[in-house]
Amino acid sequence: MTFSTLDDADLVGKRALVRVDFNVPMHEGQVTDDTRLRAAVPTIERLRTGGAKVILLAHFDRPKGRWVEAMSLAPIAPALAKVLGHPVAFAPDCVGKDAAAAVDAMKAGDVLLLENVRFYPGEEANDQAFAQALAENGDLYVNDAFSAAHRAHASTEGLAHLLPAYAGEQMRLELSALDAALGRPQRPVMGIVGGSKVSTKLDLLRNLVTKLDKLAIGGGMANTFLYAQGHDVGASYCEKDMADTARDIIRLAGQNNCKLFLPLDIVVAEKIAPGAPARVRHLGALDDDERILDAGPETVERLCRAMANSKTLIWNGPLGVFEVPPFDKGTVTAAKYAADLVKAGKLVAVAGGGDTVAALHAAGVADALTFVSTAGGAFLEWMEGKELPGVAALSKQNKR
Ligand code: ADP
Ligand code: MG
Repeated sequence: MTFSTLDDADLVGKRALVRVDFNVPMHEGQVTDDTRLRAAVPTIERLRTGGAKVILLAHFDRPKGRWVEAMSLAPIAPALAKVLGHPVAFAPDCVGKDAAAAVDAMKAGDVLLLENVRFYPGEEANDQAFAQALAENGDLYVNDAFSAAHRAHASTEGLAHLLPAYAGEQMRLELSALDAALGRPQRPVMGIVGGSKVSTKLDLLRNLVTKLDKLAIGGGMANTFLYAQGHDVGASYCEKDMADTARDIIRLAGQNNCKLFLPLDIVVAEKIAPGAPARVRHLGALDDDERILDAGPETVERLCRAMANSKTLIWNGPLGVFEVPPFDKGTVTAAKYAADLVKAGKLVAVAGGGDTVAALHAAGVADALTFVSTAGGAFLEWMEGKELPGVAALSKQNKR
């Protein structure tokens, strides 16, 4: 897919409407994790130094088209100013007179944050008139919010059709990392999919087996696959009604020459509690009260060998109940091994997913992989092979 980037834009004196994702964790009016604010800095700086007026559009939480004071973006402006080292003005509305007055007062290089776009129902409805009202304040549109690109909203999709549209720096980074992992990967390309449920990751598994050379399945969802193959899963978390689906996926993998890696050995315990007595078992009979809570050492070793024989890795979902040690061991061992291969220049490793990112941080390797996406839902939809409306609207072929 080709899209315009800021390299192609004439910025001097232009009002740049920039969609960012500032839906950050907050506690009592304070930003508790500024990762998303920092992610927006390269685009903002690029625009500022290019002589543009930077007008930021964002949503916060789910006000559902109504004015909810507690969901105001106002506290974000000072937090962003701190990260940016430059003042950030705030306008108490994203359209209409208040927004226009704040924009009119801007000089080149200024930064202005507009109020929560989701205070208007037209945002989520991708209403043409609302998008037009937003467009009044800009000469060009920059989308830097990959994590909101799976939504066709006015500020993520509609605007791209009303103004010259560009991918921001973070958007560009994310798209090129994802392209390197699944779009045009160096082969062999391997996947690791774990987590709790097959049912939430069906489309993802179905898409991956058609694109990957190998796929390792772990976590709770591996129990469903083991059950589907007639193995005893004791008291494990297992979606028994998904057994047919699991067998379908195994068949589909075979048809597409995707080698599947299911657990060879497992870590079991009676309860999920820190330091609970855990045993390694080979597949076979389990006691009625035993639960499978992690991948066993042989399984992890085979998985690491498969990584070492791959050029590209795409990973979503932990291999075990990583929140509760010792059941984090499989995930941590595999993550560290992947990080070592990346450091040695032998592997391109891209990972994403809420719990996956937390697990990689816990393993201390989140910064050591090639790219870790914090985009959540957008990342998963992309792994499912779905077209993301916010990205599609930036594509040059899709210009109306
Ligand atoms: P992500 O957010 O990265 O997409 P998921 O939400 O699909 O990942 O899965 C993460 C959850 O899966 C974690 O809470 C973890 O405890 C759980 N999990 C992993 N292995 C097991 C298992 N064997 N039994 C039950 N839950 C598991
Ligand atoms: Mg999750």
